[in-house]
Amino acid sequence: MTSPTSTLDRESRTQEGLDHWIGGERVPPGDGRYLPAVDPATGHATVGVAAGTLRDVEQAVEAAKGAAAGWRRYPSADRGRIMISLAQAIRAQRDRFVDLERADTGKTLASARAEVENSAQYFEFYGGLVNLPIGDVLDVAPDQHVFTRREPYGVIGVITPWNLPLNQAARAIAPALVAGNVVVAKPAETTSRTTVELARLASATGFPPGVLNVVLGEGDVVGTAIVSHDAVRKVAFTGSVAVGRSIGRIAADRIIPLTLELGGKSSNIVFEDADLDFAAGEAVRAFTLNAGQVCSAGTRLLVQRSIYNQFVDAVAAATRALNPGDNFGPMITRSQFLRVQEYFDVARNEGARKLVGGSVAKVEGQEGGFYIEPTVYADVDNGMRIAREEIFGPVLVAIPFDTEEDAIRIANDSPYGLIASVWSRDISRALRVADAIEAGQVFVNVWNTLSVQTPFGGHKQSGYGREKGIEAISHYSHLKTVVVKIASPLSNLPSN
Ligand code: NAD
Repeated sequence: MTSPTSTLDRESRTQEGLDHWIGGERVPPGDGRYLPAVDPATGHATVGVAAGTLRDVEQAVEAAKGAAAGWRRYPSADRGRIMISLAQAIRAQRDRFVDLERADTGKTLASARAEVENSAQYFEFYGGLVNLPIGDVLDVAPDQHVFTRREPYGVIGVITPWNLPLNQAARAIAPALVAGNVVVAKPAETTSRTTVELARLASATGFPPGVLNVVLGEGDVVGTAIVSHDAVRKVAFTGSVAVGRSIGRIAADRIIPLTLELGGKSSNIVFEDADLDFAAGEAVRAFTLNAGQVCSAGTRLLVQRSIYNQFVDAVAAATRALNPGDNFGPMITRSQFLRVQEYFDVARNEGARKLVGGSVAKVEGQEGGFYIEPTVYADVDNGMRIAREEIFGPVLVAIPFDTEEDAIRIANDSPYGLIASVWSRDISRALRVADAIEAGQVFVNVWNTLSVQTPFGGHKQSGYGREKGIEAISHYSHLKTVVVKIASPLSNLPSN
């Protein structure tokens, strides 16, 4: 496999560094400092990323505030049209986005292409929703005309992680903009390029300056400043539970709403009557997609005891056939690369039975890359750390169960509740289990076929609020009720 960086447009990789995008322009960091960045496929240093300051955040919020009134009054049909133009521009620039994304993340060509296409779809989908009714007329009393309408919050902060950088930015930015808000976005410091490129392209497409701003830099500086800023009226955060909690504390003090899309430890629950061949293939895809760096990864495999050995062996055999570097990319950051290796020690100490993997992987020509072998542990107890904690790498734990009640109990015995899949030919059983599972999304006889139309979010520590679908619009706008007194004709008559 060739290095994902080899096709990257050289002009975007000069050592002058990647800058903020504020008020429709490229803006260097206030104090001229750039953070070092690394190509995860090779371990080599790449273009530096602006280290934003409080002043940079202030400048971006001011630009957003300046654009807010105009964007809110932008005729809705025009707003929809420009959103769809941006979707078309993303598609026209697909290869550039793919190259930039791969340079930051090392992900495979197929994954990067799919994510760029999906990002375009967000702007297309939400652009198409712009003329949906935004309120109701309520029949309260004959002398009152009462109606509700959805209104934008104003400035929305969008903070995103490094695993699906463009995709997660588009997922929050598109519904925020279509609802009439303006945005200050902050991508992860390791994977900032495609979010800046998105904002640059939005400006080139005709979005007014200040509608979409991007401030780069460290989370505890730039992210905290965005969440704390008086003019930021809502924050959409995708990332870890720990940071979600700290943002939640600031938001509670400020009394602003949040959407929190956090981690997961999702179950694939396989009953003995399932289509086992298909289920085994999907179980492998579920934990190796994007090298397991997906919040909705299916990393707990619950298998009915009567087929446990046979099924887990099939999953291990299919896993052995995968090649890191071809089938999936590296860990996207060095710290994540080290973190996954720590879990191999944890698994050893907890006495899990390793069937395959359990080590770093060597990829020819990319010896310094952050590659991990796809790994399967069997006979895991649900109380072990490797069954409870999100590893965020290509690591699967297999747990046997006896009955339907057992399966539900084990699946729900988790701090997380993002997605689950149920595998059974008995549709009544599948529906009973789907009903009982504490998760925001449940799939039956398939793994994760989510699209831009399907609302997405968590239960428990996986977060709250919903992204995607028509549902997301209600999280990027608030409802106003207007009551109009209708004067009676009699009361208008002259009194004499
Ligand atoms: P992270 O929480 O460390 O960082 C996410 C973003 O928050 C980054 O932009 C970071 O710079 C910023 N940040 C860090 N500290 C901050 C602070 N104190 N205040 C404000 N912002 C701050 O997460 P990560 O390691 O980049 O991403 C991995 C995590 O994201 C995993 O737990 C994964 O499950 C989760 N995730 C969830 C979803 C979902 O939709 N539910 C999707 C993808 C990833």
